[in-house]
Amino acid sequence: MEKKKMTDRKSPGETIKGLAEYRRQRVMNWLNEKWPIPQSCPICRRKDWSTGGTIHELREFHSGSFFAAGSVFPVVPIVCNFCGYTLFFNAFKLGLIEHSKKEGEKKNG
Ligand SMILES: [Zn+2]
Repeated sequence: MEKKKMTDRKSPGETIKGLAEYRRQRVMNWLNEKWPIPQSCPICRRKDWSTGGTIHELREFHSGSFFAAGSVFPVVPIVCNFCGYTLFFNAFKLGLIEHSKKEGEKKNG
């Protein structure tokens, strides 16, 4: 029987844990590239940030009622490990997701 290699055949996105770690690393690399040192928290002045690399949604507010057609803003939170202050970065800018085509641009077949 042929044994599959488990190490070099898996891409980062093949497992949820692998995907999360891939995103987390990508976010931290992006942050270090864009954010000059010192990367201090504006509240507590510490430099201890973490992210799970997960993408969350900021939904457009419509007077407290749910509005399905409202815009959604995908963000990745980065949290200060001491005070909890949270930065949000655009997941598109981070390269974690790609823009989908607008509904009017759908192909007809
Ligand atoms: Zn802080």
